[in-house]
Amino acid sequence: MPVVHEQNAVRAAVQNAEAPARTAGNAGAAGPTAGSNFLRAIIADDNRVGKYDGRVVTRFPPEPNGYLHYGHAKSIVLNFGLAAENGGTCHLRFDDTNPLKEDVEFEDAIAASVRWLGYDWGPHRYHASDYYDTLYRYAEWFIEQGLAYVDSQTPAEMRATRGTLTEAGIASPYRDRSVAENLDLFRRMKAGEFPDGAHVLRLRIDMASPNVNLRDPAIYRIRHARHHRTGDTWCIYPLYDYTHCISDALERITHSICTLEFQDHRPLYDWVIERLAEGGQLARPLPQQYEFARLNLTYVVLSKRKLIELVEGGHVDGWDDPRMPTLVGARRRGFTPEGFRLFAERIGVSKSDSWIDMSVLEDAMRDDLNARAPRRVAVLDPIRLVIDNYPEGRRETMEPPNHPQHPEWGRRAMPFARELWIERDDFAEAPPKGFFRLTPGAEVRLRYAYIVRCTGFERDADGRVSVVHCTYDEDTRSGTPGADARKVKGNIHWLSVADALRAEVRLYDRLFRVPFPGARTPGAVRGETSGAAEPPAGHAVVIAGEDDAEADAAERSYLDDLNPAGKRVITAYVEPSLASAAPEERFQFERHGYFVADLVDHAPGRPVFNRAVTLKDSWK
Ligand code: ATP
Ligand code: MG
Repeated sequence: MPVVHEQNAVRAAVQNAEAPARTAGNAGAAGPTAGSNFLRAIIADDNRVGKYDGRVVTRFPPEPNGYLHYGHAKSIVLNFGLAAENGGTCHLRFDDTNPLKEDVEFEDAIAASVRWLGYDWGPHRYHASDYYDTLYRYAEWFIEQGLAYVDSQTPAEMRATRGTLTEAGIASPYRDRSVAENLDLFRRMKAGEFPDGAHVLRLRIDMASPNVNLRDPAIYRIRHARHHRTGDTWCIYPLYDYTHCISDALERITHSICTLEFQDHRPLYDWVIERLAEGGQLARPLPQQYEFARLNLTYVVLSKRKLIELVEGGHVDGWDDPRMPTLVGARRRGFTPEGFRLFAERIGVSKSDSWIDMSVLEDAMRDDLNARAPRRVAVLDPIRLVIDNYPEGRRETMEPPNHPQHPEWGRRAMPFARELWIERDDFAEAPPKGFFRLTPGAEVRLRYAYIVRCTGFERDADGRVSVVHCTYDEDTRSGTPGADARKVKGNIHWLSVADALRAEVRLYDRLFRVPFPGARTPGAVRGETSGAAEPPAGHAVVIAGEDDAEADAAERSYLDDLNPAGKRVITAYVEPSLASAAPEERFQFERHGYFVADLVDHAPGRPVFNRAVTLKDSWK
């Protein structure tokens, strides 16, 4: 997939972004109606013909083997959103069929993230393991119908006889075992008589099917492992394809929405529940599976394997590191649930793979935070400004508005005095062309206060500018008559030296410095020019339920593309009103960006703020 494709996807997303009244069209192709997408259209059709008597039941089925990431947010918003729009319900179902990798720690974190995004599953919190008894009973039923058999080939033999896309598979020598023998063996598998890998239970479908998923797929394997919910009750565990469709049917799911890599599994999904329904084991109408394109996002990785590596390799500060594309990371970074919903609506849902540029997510967060974050002042790289004609010991209180578009949010008090902190880069000894801030002889407005004229500066022992001197004009105080009589171009922020609070500020930026981490042509590093950029090869052919380790084995290491400037910790000054900021409270620090009081480390007397996103995109 060339980078052009990526740019088109971004353009489509941005076009949606610019026309919020008709968002949620498929990125690239307009939906049938304004604000629609193909899934909304399908549900509307089903409701019109009464396919499910107007019921809409979806599910979000995470495997509790890791933390949720930005991609899951797309799926969550989609599933919970479609249910909510139609007065339906969305189930949270833990797909816990692999006892080796799963844990309740992950379950709790997943549930918390879904709730954080703003969704509620009500009483509908389920586990695939809730259905182990039923799944087992159905497996015996399949054996009794002659539709399943115990295969005793080795895993290698099974792989070798699976066939290819062009060649049929070869039937197992055990395929024609009698029902009695199959039942006996399967029961002994369950009873723990055999070691891992000795046998599997396979459906008996069609070894010559052009769809490899129908070539007698395995549905049970032996695994002598303790399950985090069922303990040692089971030593055989059902596989995903068999479990998922039956779980959907048992929960009376109507629309089972998953990512594109499951498209070729849909015939198997249908085969299993159709047989069970024909046999009177399941009620109709049966659920129907639909596939949509997963989220591929530039400048991050969304593979669980890589996310685990980042954490375990110490490349980040844990799962909730604000740089991590996890939902726990997003929360600590100051991203908002509303921002994720806006993002999901803007990128839409489509049936073909595409890449979304990180700027689309960042813009959604900016737009949401712009609307909801009160304004505050912080000086991140301070130098001292002394107003030489302002009387020593005199203090005034300025009253900046909390939000320019929300006068009803009121104002707060900001002490003003003779000595102020200003940003180092708001002063230039030798100003570049177009520099309208402080420079010897020039005038600027101190926001919400006076116009000052720079009269000189001092250097420290190292030759760095340490103090800037100025004089103020007392007739120019903001908000007083005549304040605007004199026009100045520059407008800079400040804090009173005597009143400002010291705070730890963590400046976060993108986790990777290239669009396609690890790809052979990963794209240009910021500030450098390198035309070529291509997503990692084979990213879209991830085998369902597996990770993409093989797909990108041939690529460079994504770890080489980590952004060394992704986290910078500084000591800054913030305005005194921030002394009462609560953890997770979000603000715009004027002229800098959006920041959040850190969920974990921020405390009264020890303020810590994380930068969510800058005001403007510096990556374009
Ligand atoms: P794996 O199966 O490798 O463990 P996964 O990312 O598929 O990882 P699951 O816990 O199985 O994780 O995913 C839960 C749900 O989230 C699935 O329905 C899956 O389709 C969806 N999902 C996962 N990744 C994305 C993505 N990048 N974009 C959209 N949906 C996703
Ligand atoms: Mg999965």
